[in-house]
Amino acid sequence: MIGQIGKGFARLRDGLRKTREAITGGIRELFAGRSSLDDAFWDDVEALLLRSDAGLVSSEEIVAELRKASARSGASDPAAIVALLRDIVARRLASDGPGLSIEGFGPPAVVLVIGVNGTGKTTTIGKLAHRWKTEGKSVLLAAGDTYRAAATEQLAVWAERAGVPIVRGQEGQDSAAVVVDALESAAARGSDVVIVDTAGRLHTKSNLMDELIKIRRVVAKRVPGAPHETLLVLDATMGQNAIAQARAFGEALGVTGLVLAKLDGTAKGGVVLAIRRELGLPVKLVGVGEGLDDLQDFDPAAFAEALVAAEPETRAV
Ligand code: GDP
Repeated sequence: MIGQIGKGFARLRDGLRKTREAITGGIRELFAGRSSLDDAFWDDVEALLLRSDAGLVSSEEIVAELRKASARSGASDPAAIVALLRDIVARRLASDGPGLSIEGFGPPAVVLVIGVNGTGKTTTIGKLAHRWKTEGKSVLLAAGDTYRAAATEQLAVWAERAGVPIVRGQEGQDSAAVVVDALESAAARGSDVVIVDTAGRLHTKSNLMDELIKIRRVVAKRVPGAPHETLLVLDATMGQNAIAQARAFGEALGVTGLVLAKLDGTAKGGVVLAIRRELGLPVKLVGVGEGLDDLQDFDPAAFAEALVAAEPETRAV
């Protein structure tokens, strides 16, 4: 079942430790003092999933599936139930993937990154810049959040960390104009990929949506087929709130994929299951830490293994 082994998987597993321990450890505890898997047991399993933010509908569906699978196979010990649960989770996530690829786009490939302030947009852009630079691509960042000077400063710090150039404007300048400057600079330099940061204040305010739509339009006008990806960054610690944000942004802006940041800081990694069930959008990347290397392509099998591992402490990595 392990779709990804080695260092990357170890990081993912570390990042999901809190959620995994809550689910896997929780199931083990439910067995204590129980002689049969009665209705109360299955209700408690559902409660564990709900607490991990897997969402009401998907938690119910998963437990119904798990109950049937356990009856069919006769599985009635913690390890067997956890293994069945892992397989169900993997199957439910399997239509996502295989992560993010910009091969064949551009040049330049244009990637718009959107999301509410604080979700992890800037950090994700820094990690993506590092990833593509390490692959030998020339990357340019466009500081499209002209609303807050601090946002541009923060992006500049990540540009330096990743060793890539940044095009920035003045505070309060029209963000679409900065993006146009960045695309011209990318054309002049022959950049392979332009990553566009955008403002993320109050997503319910239509002037932000108008600004983002305008950025999309200028990008589409200047680069054929662009934006090639529109990534929405969600904060995994926000649970159902993240889903509401995805609905608001997804409809207006043609989001092509989700980035789920801060999975390492939460026991609510089950939100991936709610996202899969409630939104028609693929999770493409997951953030599992604050470092340059802490961004991974979403791999459903590896994710399921890290989220619900049968033997978390002994499995080789
Ligand atoms: P932005 O306002 O959306 O651009 O958000 P930032 O990129 O500035 O991130 C907000 C905070 O979340 C910062 O303190 C980041 O270090 C932190 N952060 C972002 N991604 C991750 C992640 O994957 N894991 C953890 N633990 N922290 C993260």
